[in-house]
Amino acid sequence: MQTLDLEKICCGAEKIGISGHIRPDGDCVGSCIALSLYLKKAVKGAEVTVFLEKPADIYNCLKGAEEISTKPDEAERFDVFFALDCSADRLGAAQKLFEQAGKRINIDHHISNEYGCGDENYVVPSASSTSELVYGLMKREYLDADIAKAVYLGIIHDTGVFQYSNTSPETMRIGAELIGYGFDFTKLIEETFYEKTYVQNQILGRALLESVMFMDGRCIVSVIEKKTMDFYGVTPQDLDGIVSQLRNTKGVDCAVFLYQTGILEYKVSLRSNEKVNVAEVAGYFGGGGHVRAAGCTMSGTYHDVINNLSRQIEKQFEKKD
Ligand code: AMP
Ligand code: MN
Ligand code: MN
Repeated sequence: MQTLDLEKICCGAEKIGISGHIRPDGDCVGSCIALSLYLKKAVKGAEVTVFLEKPADIYNCLKGAEEISTKPDEAERFDVFFALDCSADRLGAAQKLFEQAGKRINIDHHISNEYGCGDENYVVPSASSTSELVYGLMKREYLDADIAKAVYLGIIHDTGVFQYSNTSPETMRIGAELIGYGFDFTKLIEETFYEKTYVQNQILGRALLESVMFMDGRCIVSVIEKKTMDFYGVTPQDLDGIVSQLRNTKGVDCAVFLYQTGILEYKVSLRSNEKVNVAEVAGYFGGGGHVRAAGCTMSGTYHDVINNLSRQIEKQFEKKD
């Protein structure tokens, strides 16, 4: 895949828009903010706006987080519009702005977004994160501690602090370069990745307590219903990390976490350690993601959802066993 020349793409642009996927995670927020801070310096005179669903408060530590627009005006026209960390169908309210922009650029690392959705695409499934890809396109002369911090945040969130198998030697080299800019990376990791509020820990505990192993202990599942979320007063953002904790269970290859999003509707998060290609499982149900981390939304009762998922997970085990 050819790389992109950001300066050339944005040359002469007066209005530049940037957006990422609905339910924005660290990589999505980090890459959008890093690119906006960079383009504000590298493309003189351009107005650069980031559009996202409201990110979790932990991301307020990034410069420019307070300027994120959560309510796009569909009538607004952009000379260049970047879709980061997703394909156009997951941009939510910003999808229209992307589609009607003069130039559409897609930067992503999801294997389920094989061809990209832009006029120019930079999709590299082997990259740890979109933040890593965005960093690779930046000229060193414009980099500073704020941009480095946003890129670093994106990388640590998608790699589980350089732990998951998507971490490459290149990811580590970039991590080393980034901490050289002098932001407080220890605090950033602690406060955005590990620290949980009291209710977040409570609901994590509840999800673990009520989890069930199946397929002879090779899979684990837990579900949080809407009424439980209401009881604890939590939002979907408070459930981040539960599926990773489920995957840590000894002997488990595939972890499934569901939370209720509507009547007979669940958001599904899938994580695997080795055998199950969860991107294929999620893809079968209209979602997508990566080989080891993927998601989708499914309809039916909890039992329907688990039965349907189980069949596809079983197929993955049959392929590998
Ligand atoms: P999640 O379980 O929501 O944290 O998602 C795990 C990974 O899969 C992330 O990289 C998501 O961006 C991606 N993902 C989740 N849902 C979808 C979907 N419906 N389509 C494509 N990718 C998804
Ligand atoms: Mn993401
Ligand atoms: Mn990502």
